[in-house]
Amino acid sequence: MPPPLSELTIKRLTKEFTHLLTKGTKRASAPPNAETVWEQRLAGKLAFPIPWKDIWKSKGTFLTTPKDENTWWKLLHRALQTRSRDSTLTIQSCRLCGSDKETMLHLLTCLRVRKVQDALAPLLQAVGVSATDTYATWLFGLCPRGKLLREAPRALIRIFWRVVYRHMVRKEIDRVQFVTELVVKDIAHTFMTRILHTQMERQRFNLKRVEAQNKDRPNDYITHLPRSLAERYSDIGVLDLPTGYLEIHDGVIDFLKAQGVWSDFNSPGRAGGTQ
Ligand SMILES: [Zn+2]
Repeated sequence: MPPPLSELTIKRLTKEFTHLLTKGTKRASAPPNAETVWEQRLAGKLAFPIPWKDIWKSKGTFLTTPKDENTWWKLLHRALQTRSRDSTLTIQSCRLCGSDKETMLHLLTCLRVRKVQDALAPLLQAVGVSATDTYATWLFGLCPRGKLLREAPRALIRIFWRVVYRHMVRKEIDRVQFVTELVVKDIAHTFMTRILHTQMERQRFNLKRVEAQNKDRPNDYITHLPRSLAERYSDIGVLDLPTGYLEIHDGVIDFLKAQGVWSDFNSPGRAGGTQ
């Protein structure tokens, strides 16, 4: 008996459909094609076996929307629309640097892309990442030794790909220059809005909880948010469990301020942190 429609979440639906599509076929057991191709492209470049299961499962963070993740997800699936994939194009050189063929592998080492990555190093450091690897970190969201990064840095890497690709396309279609500083600022701005959203969610959740409190049953009183939540957010800030107040780390604030995008959710002038 299939579950009633009302009980189906998007995640569940995707799972069910994938199962239906791959049931009894080779794909059901064989690794996705992307794994095989990336293994070939990156042969000898990584000092550890690629932890595919962890990587596929790492989709979604508290700081990213599905749209934020889309470009990175396409890159991982080898489905990003690079020039090398379009056989009708006579010029397949990279839209950014112009010197190499624009392949997905090239984007990981493209000097123009690297410049943006270098500029983001202080922010990555502020969210707990001190060492990065061209492939492990920027493609898979792993530390140089192959362990999955935590949510906040993973979120930043995904937002990075979304914004970089958007600027790449813009350069081609609208003939707007790809300016490192503007791309970095755009990434910082998106990251800032996701932080504000998280802060707003926590505040809203806390207010709802207080309102829902049944005064006749004081034993039900939940005095604080789950500790696991504080742990989850710990790379961007300190979560006060009784109030839901999320105080952002100085390092993150400094970077966002330097980019001119910092917005203080908790300042008295802000009405609820909407932006
Ligand atoms: Zn390039």
